[in-house]
Amino acid sequence: MIKWIDLRSDTVTRPTPVMRKAMSEAEVGDDVFGEDPTVNALQERVAKMLGKEAALFVPSGTMANQLAIKSHTQPGDEVIIEATSHPYNFEGGGGAVLSGIQFHCLKGLRGILDASQIEEAIRPDDHHFPVTRLICLENTHNRGGGAIYPIDKMAEIYWLAKSKGLLVHLDGARLWNASVATRIGLHEYGQWADSVSVCLSKGLGAPIGSLVAGSRIFIDRVHRFRKMFGGGMRQVGIIASAGLYALDHHIERLKEDHQNAKRLAVGLKELKGVSLDPKHVETNIVIFDVTETGKPGFQIAEAMKRHGILIHAFGKTQIRLVTHLDISSEDIEMALNVFAKVFSGK
Ligand SMILES: *Cc1c(COP(=O)(O)O)cnc(C)c1O
Repeated sequence: MIKWIDLRSDTVTRPTPVMRKAMSEAEVGDDVFGEDPTVNALQERVAKMLGKEAALFVPSGTMANQLAIKSHTQPGDEVIIEATSHPYNFEGGGGAVLSGIQFHCLKGLRGILDASQIEEAIRPDDHHFPVTRLICLENTHNRGGGAIYPIDKMAEIYWLAKSKGLLVHLDGARLWNASVATRIGLHEYGQWADSVSVCLSKGLGAPIGSLVAGSRIFIDRVHRFRKMFGGGMRQVGIIASAGLYALDHHIERLKEDHQNAKRLAVGLKELKGVSLDPKHVETNIVIFDVTETGKPGFQIAEAMKRHGILIHAFGKTQIRLVTHLDISSEDIEMALNVFAKVFSGK
């Protein structure tokens, strides 16, 4: 079997042998009855980490976000969100279908919005308009190249929301990465949102699983909708145990992913035709422009694949690389060598 160097996403990680061992030994029960001790332990632990009263385990980050939107809104409400965000672009139109909301999209800088922009987008109290109800933020921002939401901006947006009677949901699929990079606690980020979703199946390396956290009343609503959306699972401690293992062993090591991403960015910048600023690489995602190479992104991706390296092309001009648990610093050097070959036309 060839060993691929897979830089397409941090979702491609496979559970390590010790993680699998933890899974095989997990204590389980029927979680729809609330009787899976491993799931209960994971939920309590994540709620505490995020500074929230309660958390609920769900199959995916998409379900976590969609449940939060559903639980916070009524059909016809408006949700303010950044135009390149995950819930708006990559969740199959779920906001419209499952919650009947409409998104009000604002253009951010690498995914980051200012409170003043949001303030202008809040609808006046007039029967012509939809009701603005919720603001969604994303930290780190996926399409924004792993950009970290500055915590003071989050605080400002939260205070704005409270002054207008609005709610804030944080898509924290990679909040772990933000916290490790800034040394700002998860609960410190968590205090500036009414609800937070986090993924265990990205850089943390668990095979499946996300959580949504918030107040006890909010989580009770989420719980009802999780059942409705078909997300109630049974002896799911088998998976939750992988999450608990990842929380113990795979958070601190995210800084290696960040170093690897930085190294990739610095190396790529030296190559002809590549446009990127390594200082924008704050966590484990590198997005760069290849217009000047004269080759479309998908062609570069195909050429890289012939050398055993998998990358993700966004349209014609952009490429995204993501570092993770299964990528070593040697893999980074290897990938850079192959990029040099491919860009020089060899
Ligand atoms: C991956 C991701 C999600 C969704 O997670 P899935 O488990 O793939 O559904 C949500 N938000 C962001 C920012 C993500 O990167």
